[in-house]
Amino acid sequence: MSPQTWVPVPEGSDFPITNLPYGVFRGTNGRRIGVAIGEHILDLAGVAERGLLDGPTKALRTATLNDFMASGRAQWLRVRADVIEMLTDESRRGRVEPLLVRQDAVSMCLPFDVADYVDFYSSKEHATNVGKIFRPDAAALPPNWSHLPIGYHGRAGTVVVSGTDIVRPCGQRKAAVDAAPTYGPSQRLDIEAEVGFVVGVPSSLGERVSTAGFADHVFGVVLVNDWSARDIQAWEYVPLGPFLGKSFATSISPWVVPLAALAGARVAGPVQDPVPLDYLADADPWSLDLVLEVAWNGTVVSRPPFASMYWTAGQQLAHLSVNGASLRTGDLYASGTVSGPARDQFGSFLELSWGGTQPVELGAGVLRTFLEDGDSVVLRASAPGLDGTRIGFGEVVGTVLPARTGSG
Ligand code: MN
Repeated sequence: MSPQTWVPVPEGSDFPITNLPYGVFRGTNGRRIGVAIGEHILDLAGVAERGLLDGPTKALRTATLNDFMASGRAQWLRVRADVIEMLTDESRRGRVEPLLVRQDAVSMCLPFDVADYVDFYSSKEHATNVGKIFRPDAAALPPNWSHLPIGYHGRAGTVVVSGTDIVRPCGQRKAAVDAAPTYGPSQRLDIEAEVGFVVGVPSSLGERVSTAGFADHVFGVVLVNDWSARDIQAWEYVPLGPFLGKSFATSISPWVVPLAALAGARVAGPVQDPVPLDYLADADPWSLDLVLEVAWNGTVVSRPPFASMYWTAGQQLAHLSVNGASLRTGDLYASGTVSGPARDQFGSFLELSWGGTQPVELGAGVLRTFLEDGDSVVLRASAPGLDGTRIGFGEVVGTVLPARTGSG
């Protein structure tokens, strides 16, 4: 059994003592690193300032998680053990309790400075659905899909924290029936429900990181909404892949769940046929029993299951560095849209509406294919924690604002 915390944690909270995700909050003392517990945040910078942690703590007294993430797994585990101890030992309550702040009294910031951002395409169901919708006369999966985790480099500078409004992007688009391309606000604005992995420990240029190196380099996990303008994407993506149809914004959860918290969610990895090349071999393939939830204007429209992803996070890391590209602290790589086989497990509105042909019902008679101005999307997720607990990530929420059609 997990030790009991003296902090009141409501039933069903995303943040039991077995979770303890890291984030950056803005309160009366500026931006501070904290750990979520129940409805509170433990001010970790305050803990460090008062000498309540053993060992070096400078990395915890900054405005982002980057220095702490760079400090390595031994330090991650040591700080986690110390935090568990101070939140469970009643004798320490008197000194620690004044460092709890209510989550509803502060705002959350982007938890880390994003270095490079990569997005994969690792759900076979999603890739198959997209293939059928975009290329109905061709094979659904491209020939390379089963041999390597397909990905692209995105735009790190437009990764934003949950709660940031999303201005509808403008761009160039051309439907098959159009004689010529036009410019204007995207008319097929979509989401992608994804899981993101955050690199803590960097690697050197020219060095490759193996699948087994995952645990030493990757700090934790966030939820990701990869906002996507399908009309812009469909016209621009051949032959170099996504560009402006994706780069206008990517939202992440304010909380980074450390890998240690997800130990109880590990499940067997996928069966892979054909067997991947040696550099992608994974001696211990695992996935996470992590179920996402997509709510559109308050109606839950999908629950995508992460456990069904084809390529593992370790394989994605090995692949993105196999050419010697170095890892940087703050690198974010996302799984790709998580879609299960059933319609109510699809992780994008492109799939849920089957290319805009089958509207999704949002409550009484409200039909949607793609996002309208004023729409809000909330992503949540749930995973089993240790000892029968449930772990969450908080919410990834975004509201669509009208396009800014002037040149500004
Ligand atoms: Mn994506």
